[in-house]
Amino acid sequence: MIIKDLSYEAQLQDYYLAYELIKRKLRTSYVSQLLNNISLPEIRDIHRAIHHGDSPKSGLLPAIDAIPQTRESLLYLSLFASLYRSASQIDIRTKMDVPAIIFAWDFFCDTFPNQIRERRPYGKVRPANFSEAWVIAQALTIGLAALHYCESCHGEYIIIYNSKFPPTCQICVMDKLRKTQSTQRVI
Ligand SMILES: [Zn+2]
Repeated sequence: MIIKDLSYEAQLQDYYLAYELIKRKLRTSYVSQLLNNISLPEIRDIHRAIHHGDSPKSGLLPAIDAIPQTRESLLYLSLFASLYRSASQIDIRTKMDVPAIIFAWDFFCDTFPNQIRERRPYGKVRPANFSEAWVIAQALTIGLAALHYCESCHGEYIIIYNSKFPPTCQICVMDKLRKTQSTQRVI
């Protein structure tokens, strides 16, 4: 009986987590990867129920190396990754911390309320939606991205391997570019 009660409780916890993730519009395939005792059709039903009949988004999933389109995006991504790491009690390089992703994403949205573009994420503020946030956390765990400490500005910066940007601190790069531009203007 005890085991049965426990498993019922575990089921309720899974549904609660599914609700939290779907409310933030995490792509259904990620939800189903995480919570494999809830079927994909059921996850889709939950999505429609929460989002007033809207079907979940389908098509390509976000790719980590394609998320930063501009250099500025890396500053926002670094901030998000840093928030995520600070919110987590575990080593995020070995395991994804779902409550910490949720916390960091909510904090990020509160900080940039008008910048998040859920449907057409072409802005420089990234992650632009919760699925991108999820992909960043995943990349930090599987080694497609890493968070580094910058010796010169003492900030943290994200490196995304295979992206078009070199693995350096973008705050320092942009600072240098700005200084060069202002010197040129003076000359
Ligand atoms: Zn730096």
